[in-house]
Amino acid sequence: MTLKRTSQTELPPGYGEVKHVLLTDQKLLIRLNILAVIPLLAMIVWMAIWWGIASRGRDTGSDLGIPWWLAVIAILIIVLPMHELMHGITIKLLGYPVRYGANLSKGVLFATSDNSLFWRNQYLAIALAPFVGMTALAMIIMLFASHGISYYASIGAVLNAGGAIGDLWSVVIVIRYPAQVLIRDEAEGFRIYAAGAAGSTGSAAGSSIQNIEPTPPSP
Ligand SMILES: [Zn+2]
Repeated sequence: MTLKRTSQTELPPGYGEVKHVLLTDQKLLIRLNILAVIPLLAMIVWMAIWWGIASRGRDTGSDLGIPWWLAVIAILIIVLPMHELMHGITIKLLGYPVRYGANLSKGVLFATSDNSLFWRNQYLAIALAPFVGMTALAMIIMLFASHGISYYASIGAVLNAGGAIGDLWSVVIVIRYPAQVLIRDEAEGFRIYAAGAAGSTGSAAGSSIQNIEPTPPSP
């Protein structure tokens, strides 16, 4: 994957909007909450497999001795900001400014880059960074930490995977567009811009939109 280090905010000539995704749309939110079961279950399976690999020869006696519900709250307090931090670090590494925030009414944290335009592959890297990064981190912790810590690290990876459904959904949409599209993140969603979609003067522009627009996902 080649990632260009050009931070830009203005659309190149000829680029126009081809898709607007609002992740906080009520219908989509319900759908995403149901779909979150898929990465959640997949991560439970993967963590169970990894547990078998990582726990070989580990001392099983070291339980943390805290109630499970307290552990879950603690995990969420750690996992949620770390998830956003990984989006933010990736945005920074690509050379763009980061803004962290919280939408208290919807109970979500976010990391975004105001007005920035990302190439498709950059956007994919930003979207996938927490899913891949947090999973990798949990796997490393499980290799070296005690039984109790490892257990909670695996729970953290599972909760993070479920929470990454919005990111994974974005990836599924964005990956179907060519690498030359530009994407603007809007914290609660994103817009995709493609060459040939602006101006719409003449039939040439119209036909290139046809080439860019993928078939809509089947419900
Ligand atoms: Zn995310």
